[in-house]
Amino acid sequence: MKTVEKMEFSYLQQAKDYVDEVYEMVKKRNPDQVEFQQAVKEVFDSLIPVLAKHPNYMQQAILERMVEPERTITFRVPWVDDKGKVRVNRGYRVQFSSALGPYKGGIRFHPTVNESIIKFLGFEQTFKNSLTGQPIGGAKGGADFDPKGKSEMEIMRFTQSFMTELSKHIGPDLDVPAGDIGVGAKEIGYMFGQYKKLRGAYEAGVLTGKGIGYGGSLARKEATGYGTAYFMDAMFKDNGLSLDGCKVIVSGSGNVSIYAMEKMVELGANVIACSDSDGYIYDENGIYLETVKRLKEEEQGRIREYIKEHPHAMFKEGCSGIWEIPCDIALPCATQNEIDDSAARLLVANGVKAVGEGANMPTTLEAIEIFLENNILFAPAKAVNAGGVAVSALEMAQNSARLAWSFEEVDSKLYEIMNNIYTTSTKAAEDYGQPGNLVLGANIAGFIKVADAMIAQGII
Ligand code: GLU
Repeated sequence: MKTVEKMEFSYLQQAKDYVDEVYEMVKKRNPDQVEFQQAVKEVFDSLIPVLAKHPNYMQQAILERMVEPERTITFRVPWVDDKGKVRVNRGYRVQFSSALGPYKGGIRFHPTVNESIIKFLGFEQTFKNSLTGQPIGGAKGGADFDPKGKSEMEIMRFTQSFMTELSKHIGPDLDVPAGDIGVGAKEIGYMFGQYKKLRGAYEAGVLTGKGIGYGGSLARKEATGYGTAYFMDAMFKDNGLSLDGCKVIVSGSGNVSIYAMEKMVELGANVIACSDSDGYIYDENGIYLETVKRLKEEEQGRIREYIKEHPHAMFKEGCSGIWEIPCDIALPCATQNEIDDSAARLLVANGVKAVGEGANMPTTLEAIEIFLENNILFAPAKAVNAGGVAVSALEMAQNSARLAWSFEEVDSKLYEIMNNIYTTSTKAAEDYGQPGNLVLGANIAGFIKVADAMIAQGII
């Protein structure tokens, strides 16, 4: 064997050993955090060729540093319900990385929230934000509060109590939260009001996803969904395919799903199914999106009500069954781990061409493996759903400049960013010998920027 080859071979083995060793440490240090372990494993498996090519990352202990959040804050959130009963929830903010800019990432209110969920989201966010090319670090927060069935006043009181503590840890140049599951413009409004009152100053850039009338950005609401569709379009075009007439299944019916459906339809596709936590609807000739929008955005209704207005459609109890419907494109836009190995096998058997992760980590590691083995075009969350946070960064830019851009201006920037993310991830996959593997490409491209910034800033 020639010396160079020998050297590369030895670094490859060293990289594999290093990744195994750090992953074992992650499991030992975070024994119950299965979602966090899953997110780390997905990234680590992609990084072996990079570490082998640039052994300096290993010498700098970059992985050990990256898997430890810079700061984890947990706090008590006491509030009083409508019956006068005192309730207590647990709040979190995990400030994962400030290598590229102020901590940035959403807040999730959902009963499943725990430290593992927030850490996996914060870890993912760091690489996603890096991929956007914008100056934002990574963070995530939330609470195990269930907004379902709560009154307006209960939601306001809870949200204010949450912000009373969170306000001590955030700021426009420090940490800029936004929405996620269970947190939309309404909750952001209450959070902003409470922050403003406590701070005694109008710091517009402290939160993103604000209402348009007081510092929010046009196209932020649509951004994650539209961005997902733009990315799928770029991927299809690059592979000589067209979205025209493609049958699409979009799980969920929240903010990401609704605007992914809207843009996919605009780009020529036909959305035939969507869901909520009760079950899914299947409307063979295409969903009437206006009905879904009204039910979900205005009436806080359930997706099952769709069939009252469109009796030819079908509603089925349980949300996992949605993947049994044959389709060309699957866009899981609901929540983590909604596509497991059996759903993936079914989708492949039914001829799916592409899968795009509108939600964060909606596909299990086994399911990703199945898609990649079967040469299904697979768009990973960090890349395909980065449009939301990208427009959040544009909202921060507008707030700093005290300007408001038009919808078209923001939308065209979003389009450009999504296309850049596609190109960058594709190129990284090619550079590291696995063309078309965007899981690898997105992880590598996201990682390199964060790692280089960390090294440049010293051991801190
Ligand atoms: N929660 C969104 C995400 O997962 C948006 C975060 C943000 O806008 O800061 O990327």
